[in-house]
Amino acid sequence: MQLNRLSFLAVAAIFHFSYIWSIFDIYFVSPIVHGMRHHSSGIKPPAKRLFFIVGDGFRADKCFQSHTPPFLKDGEDPTPRPLAPFLRSRVLEAGSFGVSHTRMPTESRPGHVALIAGLYEDVSAVTTGWKLNPVNFDSVFNQSSHTWSWGSPDILPMFKEGAVPGKVDALSYSEDDEDFTGDSTKLDTWVFDHVRDFFAQAEHDEELRSAVNGDKVVFFLHLLGLDSTGHGFRPYSPEYLWNIQVVDAGVQDLVNTVDKFYGNDGKTAWVFTADHGMSDWGSHGDGHPDNTRTPLIAWGAGIRGPDIVTDGTIASGHDEFSSDWNLDRVRRVDVDQADIAALMAHLIGVNYPANSVGVLPLEYLDATDEEKARSILANALEILEMFKVKEAKKMSTQINFVPFALLQEGELSSQARVDKIQSLIQSQDYGSAISQSKDLILASLQGLRYMQTYDWLFLRTLVTLGYLGWILFALAFVIQQHFLGSTATRKWSSAAFVSFLSTLTGVFAIIYVQQSPWTYYMYAFAPVFFWWQVWLSRDALMVGLPLLAQRHGPHRYFGLLVKSMGFLVVLEAIVYGYFHREVFTVCFVLGLTWPWFYGVGFIKRNAITVSLWSVSCLAMSVFTLLPVVKVESLVQIHSAGGLMLATGLGYIAYGHRLFDTDTKTIFNGKYMQFLLGLQCGLIALSMAVTHGSVQSIQAKKGLPFGNQVMGWCILGLSLVALPMHRLTPLRHYQHQLMVLFLSFSPTFVILTISYEGLFYVSFCAMLAAWVQMEYLVYQQVNSTEETRAKNRGVRVLDLGDNRIALFFFFFIQAGFFGTGNVASLGSFSLESVVRLVPIFNPFAMGAILVYKLLIPFAIISANLGVLNRIIQAPPSALFMIVMSITDVLTLNFFYMVKDEGSWLDIGTTISHFVIASLFCVFVAALEPLSGLFVGDQGVESAKEKKKE
Ligand SMILES: [Zn+2]
Repeated sequence: MQLNRLSFLAVAAIFHFSYIWSIFDIYFVSPIVHGMRHHSSGIKPPAKRLFFIVGDGFRADKCFQSHTPPFLKDGEDPTPRPLAPFLRSRVLEAGSFGVSHTRMPTESRPGHVALIAGLYEDVSAVTTGWKLNPVNFDSVFNQSSHTWSWGSPDILPMFKEGAVPGKVDALSYSEDDEDFTGDSTKLDTWVFDHVRDFFAQAEHDEELRSAVNGDKVVFFLHLLGLDSTGHGFRPYSPEYLWNIQVVDAGVQDLVNTVDKFYGNDGKTAWVFTADHGMSDWGSHGDGHPDNTRTPLIAWGAGIRGPDIVTDGTIASGHDEFSSDWNLDRVRRVDVDQADIAALMAHLIGVNYPANSVGVLPLEYLDATDEEKARSILANALEILEMFKVKEAKKMSTQINFVPFALLQEGELSSQARVDKIQSLIQSQDYGSAISQSKDLILASLQGLRYMQTYDWLFLRTLVTLGYLGWILFALAFVIQQHFLGSTATRKWSSAAFVSFLSTLTGVFAIIYVQQSPWTYYMYAFAPVFFWWQVWLSRDALMVGLPLLAQRHGPHRYFGLLVKSMGFLVVLEAIVYGYFHREVFTVCFVLGLTWPWFYGVGFIKRNAITVSLWSVSCLAMSVFTLLPVVKVESLVQIHSAGGLMLATGLGYIAYGHRLFDTDTKTIFNGKYMQFLLGLQCGLIALSMAVTHGSVQSIQAKKGLPFGNQVMGWCILGLSLVALPMHRLTPLRHYQHQLMVLFLSFSPTFVILTISYEGLFYVSFCAMLAAWVQMEYLVYQQVNSTEETRAKNRGVRVLDLGDNRIALFFFFFIQAGFFGTGNVASLGSFSLESVVRLVPIFNPFAMGAILVYKLLIPFAIISANLGVLNRIIQAPPSALFMIVMSITDVLTLNFFYMVKDEGSWLDIGTTISHFVIASLFCVFVAALEPLSGLFVGDQGVESAKEKKKE
């Protein structure tokens, strides 16, 4: 069974596409389970009803700091003062307060889920979208006897749909009202007005009146105004500050209305908080403390009054963050966001939401020690229950299940712990009961994580073996096809086939018994298949390796080892470069030293090539230090254009020196001179047109229609020159590369914002120098009689070819990073295409942008194609070596995928992994591209006699 090249490519594509999916099965599996029994504290609930108010995007410090009131009229007092005086009075006179710490991602949906359901955002939502409710989870609203809610249509439906039908009433304004630039305080006054109307109606409506007088009812006010003003004007703007005043006044008015309605019966509990904060630049989502710190103020039934120190010291809980709130006397108690769900459940005496991981913040409670002990035990039982359900589910399917050690045996077993706590409560040792309940909660939470990551070892092992297997498989394939030439051996063995089949059956059986998803079969098949193939090719590998070592002089294996380590270091450096582009700068500077490995004689003989290599390496090292965000600069555009033009003109004048007599005649012919002249003319023209376009656009006069038409004409004509060159018989490789460079130059002038044009020039120069260097090195290494005799005219691959593959791979990455950040297309600004498409048109703009991005890769693949031919390496061998080493990167990124953090962090790690996976397929696609640009007739190699 011998694979041909086409099936090799097919295997590569299928393998890489299917393995991309593995990260979702490993990292993004929903933690939510069902089937838990419910638990409530069982004590008499301190409150009959709960008012839960969320100021969306309300930052903790803005809630308590003093500011000059915004929009003052003449004569009003400008002294800075707290802008939420009513909420502050609750802190000082009536309740408890602190900072509620949210987790990332700091978005509205996960924030509300944590507050109301007590569970932190389910990362599996990455694959299902996050606005709607991808999974059903229990919530405080669902446990209440009834919940009325008012607010944004983005938030309310999520809890209404997730709850028992009819239990949650949701009243929203329409989505059109959420305009970021209008007066967003209207969103809040809308809510307050409707709640006031609601209670006014309840005065007369008998049915409603008895409903709102029931036990365990919740009123939820979602105030979106602050989020909108924060986004629109930023959190230190007068608009945001004004919005704080609106919210504060609204809450005060609401409290009066409610107290009046219920006749001050002392049975109302109040919780005010926010879903997330807001950064100084008006955004949220990441883990910046401004986004994760939100205020929590609770008062009313069941809530402990303020704990105030009177001796002039600072009350506990305060730090630098709260130092300018002027609340030092009052104890500050911080909580984690999900704890608020537990607090609310306790206050009205409903079951803790079944999926909640929140821990009851006892410091907030106005309760006896016994009540606290009983309530937190119920809390612990609820979280333990979740663990037990997960454990039972896993245990029922796993072969050889390994239980979670901290909850397993003897005194540690969950039952023993619960019994102990109950007996402590019996004997009125409430303090110990509480601390042991807290321990149990901690152990259960760790157990939940243990269950969540239980499959990781198995899956990661499969995936790792799969990628390693692929790398070896691909290498063995290249060695067999190109290294050993006709001596390649590949033994079919029935024994190996039987062991392959039985291993596969064994792994499939495990997957089947454990009822794992069907995708697991896919992940298991690849490693078994690849390793079987590698085993069959072991002779090729065994013969190939010593041969490689032989070529490396007296030290043999040691030399091979050192070089292989060097390769790995470069590959790891590239991985690091995804996070710090500067790594590429270091690599380019190190690249300067390459020619020195071949001795001073080599450098002296090839001074021109070595200098071009050194200069272009230095130039390339600059770009990854420049900012990704670019500012339009005519100077830079014109210097790039000038360099392109000078190169072209220089080539017309002196290019003939490269060729022997016959070729020289063609080069000096009229047709060739006309073509090259035309290409230079197009570059000059593109500079002129771009100059006009930039000035006009900068002067806000728009793009003149003439300039747009000219731009498109230049773009088209510059590409026509390429096939026209094909009509000439000139096939010298340096000529071909020069033609390619000149063909894409006008495009780069038109599409450049700042330094991309200079990058293009340096990049092409470096590649040309590289091809020439490799050619010279190849000649030097193969110059001795001995080597020639050994090769006996057959060109096989050697380790030097691996270096070429590595350089190529590095240049591909550099092509991406030179002008942008590979992981975010946002760093490739649309600004550059407005000279061709002035009106916003995502499709056309995107297409041109991608075209611009792909040009460096066209150039680089053409260079490799040329190189492959002039050093007479077997066709496509170099490309295939690259295809095998790309997965060193993929494997790295596979382990770096994050399942927690902001959407941005998670998304970045995913895209790194996916990009690395696809590189292999991308490289495979580059090869035919090189044929397209360089031509299939082969490249006339440089003349030996010229080099002497
Ligand atoms: Zn929000």
